[in-house]
Amino acid sequence: MKKAIAVIRGDGIGPEIVREALGVLDAAAAKFGHTFIYKEAPMGGCAIDEFGVPLPDSSLETCLASDSVLLGAVGGPKWDAQPPANRPERGLLKLRAAMELYTNIRPARMFQELASACPLRADIAANGIDFIVVRELIGGVYFGEHSTAEVDGEKKATDIMAYSEHEIRRVAHVAFQTAQKRRKRVTSVDKANVLDTSRLWRKVVTEVAAEYPDVELLHMYVDNAAMQLVRDPSQFDVIVTENLFGDILSDEASQITGSIGMIPSSSMGAGTRGLYEPIHGSAPDIAGQNKANPIGTILAAAMMLRFSFDMAQEADAIERAVDETLKAGFRCGDILQTGGTLVGCREMGTEIRKRI
Ligand code: NAD
Repeated sequence: MKKAIAVIRGDGIGPEIVREALGVLDAAAAKFGHTFIYKEAPMGGCAIDEFGVPLPDSSLETCLASDSVLLGAVGGPKWDAQPPANRPERGLLKLRAAMELYTNIRPARMFQELASACPLRADIAANGIDFIVVRELIGGVYFGEHSTAEVDGEKKATDIMAYSEHEIRRVAHVAFQTAQKRRKRVTSVDKANVLDTSRLWRKVVTEVAAEYPDVELLHMYVDNAAMQLVRDPSQFDVIVTENLFGDILSDEASQITGSIGMIPSSSMGAGTRGLYEPIHGSAPDIAGQNKANPIGTILAAAMMLRFSFDMAQEADAIERAVDETLKAGFRCGDILQTGGTLVGCREMGTEIRKRI
């Protein structure tokens, strides 16, 4: 297969981690007989320096014309003084909106070799952590009306939380289809005992479930879900939830697995094209020092192969290479344990590439 990938290297450690991810993609392409064509799309602080804006039209066009987008990270102290409308992160928001990416998919997986970095009790961690949070990304309270008014001599603030059936239905389909490729279990998280949006959420998700008889559906209140994530995360396969609950639960989910440098994410719309990135930022404190852990970005590239290009074997090969590299004891600084071999960003990429 031949695929065009828009590459946003971004700022800080972005260029270093993306370079290693592209190296791993090239190794997978060589092994499985594919061609990946990379198209540079400057975005973030580097684009402000070069073009005056965080997302130039030419970069947006490159992304929209590609089969998928791989992103490092954007932002850094150099651009903190930019006006809000011209900050590096604005480029990312504009890109997500232009690509109509309504679903965020974030795996939470604990590598057994890094179990000691898991903040949960050892007997809980021993059961393993391997689930995916599917979050609605462009609806709910974040996109409702926000207002503050003076009422009876004091300020009163209001945020509107709204969901339409079609917004729920499309993300529910993503969750069930994701579960079909995994352990076939969806947990839908809501607050249906209190919120009308949640009652509609539950009704629509239940309707969609009828189209996927091979997938088990459970409903869970969000307060219980927050608790179950630390009590027994092994019970989850795919969690699907609305924007606000997903924002909070996906951060909790990342935290229980260990290092921030290890976790990928994808944002998807109606088609197969997605935006793939690690969950961390541009880490300006370690930029340019060959200290960044590239694994989150490498696993984001594997997600791209699995979800956008339907290349499951190729994605498996990358994930297995990461596992084997960790088993062989190689560690970047953020995940270094006693007895591990400290390597830099470049060397970690090389070790993973060798094992494809
Ligand atoms: P950060 O995630 O960049 O860094 C937090 C801490 O984690 C730092 O100590 C950093 O060194 C470490 N870290 C992060 N990624 C690492 C990796 N791959 N390997 C090793 N260590 C790693 O968060 P921050 O410091 O709050 O933000 C820095 C900049 O990134 C800000 O400008 C912020 O706006 C931006 N940001 C961008 C994105 C994005 O592009 N999607 C996301 C979050 C933050």
